[in-house]
Amino acid sequence: MAKELDVVIQQVEERQVELIQLVERLVRFETPAPPARNTAEAQGFIAEFLQERGFEIDQWEVYPGDPNVVGILKGQAPELYKSLIINGHIDVAEVSSDEPWEAGPFTPLVRDGVIIGRGVADMKGGLAGALFAVQLLGEAGIRLPGDLIFQSVIGEEVGEAGTLECCKRGYRADFAVVVDTSDLHLQGQGGVITGWITVKSQQTWHDATRKSMIHAGGKLFGASAIEKMMKVVQGLQELERHWAVMKSYPGCSPGTTTINPAVIEGGRHAAFIADECRLWITVHFYPNETYDEVIQEIEAHIDRIAQSDLWLRENPPTFNWGGSSMIEDRGEIFPSLEVDPDHPGVKALKAFHELVLDKPAMIDVSATVTDGGWFGDAGIPAVIYGPGRLEHAHAVNEQVSIAQLIDFTKVMLKFIYAWCRTER
Ligand SMILES: [Zn+2]
Repeated sequence: MAKELDVVIQQVEERQVELIQLVERLVRFETPAPPARNTAEAQGFIAEFLQERGFEIDQWEVYPGDPNVVGILKGQAPELYKSLIINGHIDVAEVSSDEPWEAGPFTPLVRDGVIIGRGVADMKGGLAGALFAVQLLGEAGIRLPGDLIFQSVIGEEVGEAGTLECCKRGYRADFAVVVDTSDLHLQGQGGVITGWITVKSQQTWHDATRKSMIHAGGKLFGASAIEKMMKVVQGLQELERHWAVMKSYPGCSPGTTTINPAVIEGGRHAAFIADECRLWITVHFYPNETYDEVIQEIEAHIDRIAQSDLWLRENPPTFNWGGSSMIEDRGEIFPSLEVDPDHPGVKALKAFHELVLDKPAMIDVSATVTDGGWFGDAGIPAVIYGPGRLEHAHAVNEQVSIAQLIDFTKVMLKFIYAWCRTER
């Protein structure tokens, strides 16, 4: 690798104070979601940071007060060389006022080789490392022949797909790195989709009619939607167990495919037979499955159960899948992402990781979900690769190791430099 890069790599260590300050700066922007709608200032900072380093800025509001920022550093010969998307979310997990933080969630603290603050692991550390890599390349006067696209997106913590909005706006590249929490493993992910199942009676009945509905000779063809939902819940449990027995994916523990009955709502009040019941479920599926396949399996199974029930046959359950936000329409989708270990982007990233850290790189499956799935969904090869550990993400006194942050920055520097110099 070129000498010009070696000098830059050295600077990561020498100038680590600046890297730490950049993380601290990002932490001080209070961007928890929920409540969300609070990222404009932080996004403005990132837009300015990128603009000062030669990026063209595309900034647009996804929700009021929550803009996406995409910075484009045009390559010198973009048609001949590979392009790269670096993606990260600026929102952080929620905090409550009674949490015992050492300093405060948005008051960064540096001690014993770690930075503490909300979002340092998930994922302002990753964003800062990638930004610092971009800064050092720029200051060294290194120009890239391929395009570099930096996406700072909103809403990830509440299922608001800022990344999907970038894909819809037409941003594509030959490879994408989502710098979210992965403890520097190269990761794919399973997917998540939420859904509402509704059991609804066409008629509304007085509570006093129950005896005519359930006892001999009553002659009233009716049912409680709550009691009928019990059959649906049981059916979901059967299907969940069947999946656990029959499905598997390398690197995922068996039974990762779960159907969680998360929320149930139903009934009017005690003077009525419950005429409606709604169940909110969370479905986890494997990296090689799509949410379309999975919801078809669930609907087919529940439909068969409904067919075998005299009342549900006439009043079949209805389904409402996904959504664009947990706080706006109470639903979300995180598509799955499979990582191809033979993809040249994955191979290069792995090689640079091993060079910088001097130990084997791990390619596995994230235990959680990130925006990486939207790239999989859009047909853009991608990998999740970022500093920080999942056990620290969303936790009180969330922390990231400074040594790992430095390693990450070095790997990203080498990768950006090499990838955007690779001929198509
Ligand atoms: Zn995250």
